Amino acid sequence: MTDRRPDGPLREEDIRPADLKARLREHMLRDRERWLAGRPDWVSVPCPACGESDGRDFEVRGYACRECAACGTAYHCPRPSETQLRDYYANAESYGFWAREIFPATAERRRAAIARPQATRLVEAADLAGAGRGLLVEIGAGSGLVLEEIRALGRFDRLLAVEPTPGLAAVLRGKGFEVIEAGWEDAPLAALQADAVCSFEVIEHLFDPGAYLRAVRRALRPGGVLVLTCPNIRGFDFEVLGWDLADNFGLGHINMFHPASLTMLLERCGYSVRAVATPGRLDADLVRQKILSGAFDVSAQPFLRRVLVDEWERLGEPFQAFLRENGLSSNMMVTAVAAGA
Ligand SMILES: [Zn+2]
Repeated sequence: MTDRRPDGPLREEDIRPADLKARLREHMLRDRERWLAGRPDWVSVPCPACGESDGRDFEVRGYACRECAACGTAYHCPRPSETQLRDYYANAESYGFWAREIFPATAERRRAAIARPQATRLVEAADLAGAGRGLLVEIGAGSGLVLEEIRALGRFDRLLAVEPTPGLAAVLRGKGFEVIEAGWEDAPLAALQADAVCSFEVIEHLFDPGAYLRAVRRALRPGGVLVLTCPNIRGFDFEVLGWDLADNFGLGHINMFHPASLTMLLERCGYSVRAVATPGRLDADLVRQKILSGAFDVSAQPFLRRVLVDEWERLGEPFQAFLRENGLSSNMMVTAVAAGA
């Protein structure tokens, strides 16, 4: 599925302005200290995609990581226990900073550049999969930017947000949405009989993604559609920058799938995968920023230097479009249908 609503190039600065990003960094450093302090209680887990335990162990900025020998998924192992993760997510300074500062300052750009295309793609995916027009549930709805755009498209009769953060649940209610103020573990998902469930940038944070997908499966009618997004470890910026330089593999991002491994996990959890797209728009700019800051040396890589620096104005956007349209971006969107009961 291609992005049919381009609205000009998206730059990291549009959604994470440099001044706010610098302040975010300080919160993240303190969060990281707190995360790493729990290390004595971390637990080993099998691969979140395929269930195997063999792999190559390595460390990234203090995080213990494993690359699964069987399927190539990368994941934090050992990792914080479920209790530690819940405590971390409930109290992370950086999440508070996102909610208070970054999301409000970038809301309109995010709406045009991210939420609206996401809503459009979701409706297209629901149409293609033949999902009913009744209930759509968004798990981890945040401040409701995507839900507002879905509402504007009129595809579903009823919209429901599942959101555990009290301040965000209040924002959602203020926008007129029905809200279950709970995490997915505590929400009565099995009673919903939803026609569609969506979940954007959630699964990479979870202790047990398989348990999550099975719970979501129970929220769907047979034939109901799940649309989810998450990072793609086989995307351009990960593969070019590597573990140490790619910002996306670290604090809170503990399950890093790729299209084939996430497809396998979904099929193990009772879904039939219909499409995997990589609608990401920032890969080229993220690598470019690493070059410009001096963190990534391309003096021996003339091709990258030419596309991402010397001829950026001419080549940057078409190059990103090529990544996006050929499964090569590091942000992926999967559409899956709940198999029959
Ligand atoms: Zn695996």
